[in-house]
Amino acid sequence: MKILVINAGSSSLKYQLIDMDTEGVIAKGICERIGIEDSLLTHKANGKTTEIKQDMPTHQEAIELVLQALINKEYGVLSSMDEIDAVGHRVLHSGEDFNGPALATDENIEKCLGNAELGPLHQIPNIAGVKACKEVMPNTPMVLVFDTTFHSTMPEKAYIFGLPYDAYKDYRIRRYGFHGTSHRFVSGEAIKYLGLEGKPSKIITCHLGNGSSMSAVKDGKCVDTSMSFTPLGGVPMGTRSGELDPAIIEFLAKKSGMTLAETINYLNKKSGVLGVSGVSSDFRSIRNAAVEGNKRAALALDIFAYSVKKYIGTYAAVLGGVDCLVFTAGLGENDGKMRKEIVDGLEFLGIEINEELNAMPNDGSIRDITGANGKVKVLVIPTNEELVIARDTLALAFNK
Ligand code: ADP
Repeated sequence: MKILVINAGSSSLKYQLIDMDTEGVIAKGICERIGIEDSLLTHKANGKTTEIKQDMPTHQEAIELVLQALINKEYGVLSSMDEIDAVGHRVLHSGEDFNGPALATDENIEKCLGNAELGPLHQIPNIAGVKACKEVMPNTPMVLVFDTTFHSTMPEKAYIFGLPYDAYKDYRIRRYGFHGTSHRFVSGEAIKYLGLEGKPSKIITCHLGNGSSMSAVKDGKCVDTSMSFTPLGGVPMGTRSGELDPAIIEFLAKKSGMTLAETINYLNKKSGVLGVSGVSSDFRSIRNAAVEGNKRAALALDIFAYSVKKYIGTYAAVLGGVDCLVFTAGLGENDGKMRKEIVDGLEFLGIEINEELNAMPNDGSIRDITGANGKVKVLVIPTNEELVIARDTLALAFNK
């Protein structure tokens, strides 16, 4: 069985074709500058990269071009598009309408559009991608896999804010949480790795990348997560502020003369470790600057590690203990120094890492970096959101 996984953004569309017998990637690529001049498809298959420059005014042309690339005689991997058994689509927001993946029926697509106001920058292009794909492949089963549904098991006390209850009832303002496919995947992998299937488990997952979030996972179910109503909540990130005193927004707008929209953009795009360091949103550049003596770069790294450490403490309290701490995503998988800075001082919780194992490069496998006296397993687990989407698609479309 072959599953095509699609992640449609506002001007980009990423895809992976996955062979479900081996769970290996057959081909992958990205369409960029959709709806803008000079659109480009970069397609990778059989160890070769092919660039195709062609106008893609909408997502529909992008998907058509992807399918043509997949069946191209020279650089394609399929003899016909009928070999694609199903398509899995990444969708940002389930709202409260879904608690797991769903078939891309017209009714479910309408529900997704009803949730667009909760995350318009992603939800609208995500659904444009689904609709375009349905046009081009009307007979292929399609599944919607949401970033939020893993968090749908949170108890009310974790997702209702201290606002008048009507803000939740009337406007749907609550904690939703994001990066759900990643938290689900790595917590599931940790449970398997530790042989805890069907047994009680308390896991804290740290998805640390350009966007970062943490989750508390009890017996395989999410009970709390750091991202919030939007992905702006929680720990400071590459360019996002993370949580703040809400009064800062009005004060900042008044002082700077920014509009409300400009202020939110400032919190989303100009803040986080970029804003503190003034160097970059990329942690490698910030680390290099800190090593060269840049104090604000060092401060940005300190703030980040401190914030993640605080969440580990918080979630240890939420879970009533910790069996396993998982690091994943670009930074979590690759930056041993940051992992060490985060866990330093957490020995009282039984969290200790082996520095030699922690310093080893990421080889794409699950790595156990627990120290000799550590009571909590500390694992580095490469995330694979596309594989989760493909597995969900297979399961829902074919009951497998
Ligand atoms: P996104 O949220 O965009 O998916 P990623 O999970 O790819 O982000 O993470 C990107 C971040 O990971 C960047 O800040 C990058 O600097 C950091 N990163 C990637 N590789 C390394 C590495 N080898 N060492 C340190 N940081 C790394």
